[in-house]
Amino acid sequence: VRISIGVLVLLLGLTACSAETEPAPDLVLANGKVFTADAAAPWAEAVAIRGSRILAVGSDAEVRALAGAGTRVVELDGRVVIPGLNDAHRHFELPVSGSHQLALTPLEPSWDELEAALRQAAATTPAGTWIEGTIGVTVMTDPHVDRERLDGLAPEHPVRLATFYGHGDIYNSLALSELGVEESEADPLGGFWERASVSGRLNGRVFEYPQWNARRRLNQEIEMAVVVERLRAEAAEMLAVGITSAQTMPMLSLHRFVDGLIEAGLPIRVRAIRFPGTEGQARLLDEDRDVSVPTRLVDRITVGGTKWILDGTPLERGAAMRQPYHDAPEQRGRLNFPAEEVAAMLRESIVADEQLLVHAVGDHALGVLLSAMESMPEVDWPPRRVRVEHGDALFPDLAERAAQLGVVVVQNPTHFALPAVVQRVGTDRGFQPLRSLLDAGIPLALGSDGPPNPWLDVMLATLHPASPSEAVTVEQAIVAYTRGAAFAELEEEEKGTLVAGKLADLAVLSQDVFMVPADALPSTRSVLTLLGGKIVHDAGELR
Ligand SMILES: [Zn+2]
Repeated sequence: VRISIGVLVLLLGLTACSAETEPAPDLVLANGKVFTADAAAPWAEAVAIRGSRILAVGSDAEVRALAGAGTRVVELDGRVVIPGLNDAHRHFELPVSGSHQLALTPLEPSWDELEAALRQAAATTPAGTWIEGTIGVTVMTDPHVDRERLDGLAPEHPVRLATFYGHGDIYNSLALSELGVEESEADPLGGFWERASVSGRLNGRVFEYPQWNARRRLNQEIEMAVVVERLRAEAAEMLAVGITSAQTMPMLSLHRFVDGLIEAGLPIRVRAIRFPGTEGQARLLDEDRDVSVPTRLVDRITVGGTKWILDGTPLERGAAMRQPYHDAPEQRGRLNFPAEEVAAMLRESIVADEQLLVHAVGDHALGVLLSAMESMPEVDWPPRRVRVEHGDALFPDLAERAAQLGVVVVQNPTHFALPAVVQRVGTDRGFQPLRSLLDAGIPLALGSDGPPNPWLDVMLATLHPASPSEAVTVEQAIVAYTRGAAFAELEEEEKGTLVAGKLADLAVLSQDVFMVPADALPSTRSVLTLLGGKIVHDAGELR
């Protein structure tokens, strides 16, 4: 009896105590310039954190007053704090196991440069070694560059030239045979192996699904240790620029990707998005359906959403357009799937109760998607947050329909800086809209789809070199990279803004991104990155 009373007194005592005083924060970030990305209160001076969550955001005096004896106070000296960035569109891919990488000028190496590099690589690496190089439209659209030309330079090495924009590869004959691609190979659903116009022979070029199917097959050979090492390096690179969440469409099986994430134990949140292939005339609907994450890691690794690619890009004139291309009046691009397949994707997302993500660039592809959604008036689309990746030709008539359907757009500003895009689509057509999407009320997120430098993306979003009237402000770009990206992955209750109760994922920046000239933005770094209240990157600059 005495013990019970004692316990009771203790309990009452504790209850009374905790009712009187709020628990003190573990950490206070004081005297900063805090951009919360919360529309109701976008600016503050300090943040208090307890455990993995934000305890309070407010004026310096208010937040400092919460500190207790055990609170660590970090003086920001006016530095900018933002919610951790969330890269809404990334890929994960690796070179072929044991391959030799050609050192080429980024983006648009010339054929002369490539020829010399390939000749040298063939002379200096053992026969049978894969040789890989990254090319742009210059080489990809040169009709003289084909499998025979590559065979002439490197007959005993499998060669793959991959476009930096991911839509189109060129293989030589040995690479085709290593991939098991035969002359009689039928095109699978979703893309094609190009054939020489006279002989009908495969010319080594491959577009869309057979390209990714082949790449996925090659990537299956890669050792787990290599996957883990690359994941760790990428995570460190992301944390150093203020990214705390990444939404990734891996170019290898989701099983292996998630196994790699589990083994790597990364201090970053990753959403793994299913990106299945095709076989014969079917989409591989069940591929990677049964991937699971151990309970201890569910706050950092999530598996969700299925992505399909509906068309190509303007660079290879593969984006399916309603009007002909500006620089090739006989071409309008092509759809990877007929409209019935797009409707099936939508139905599958409802049955599986998962988010559907589609790469759709051309206005024809976008129109097919929107029409399919509109043909199911019984479905309440906005809560499903169907995602359009890129949405470059979401012209005003389509944007209005997309807004009605609650479609979320994920755009990648590095695509605004490619002169070849302007060449293909012409100027002043409202291609690659950004500001007008916000005006139309479309939820917008940003992602890199390229080099993991969100600050390059912020710069390009605020300049929009291809269409300056579509530029947004730095604040709008950061909101799209934080709150917008969290909304795009249905996680806005947990992260994306600096608000009491949310996860303490944030970055302290090396410079005031709201004040520096645009061309200084890409050099922005994070001096301190927190994930769930824990320091996961520290440049050692703060007291
Ligand atoms: Zn992409």
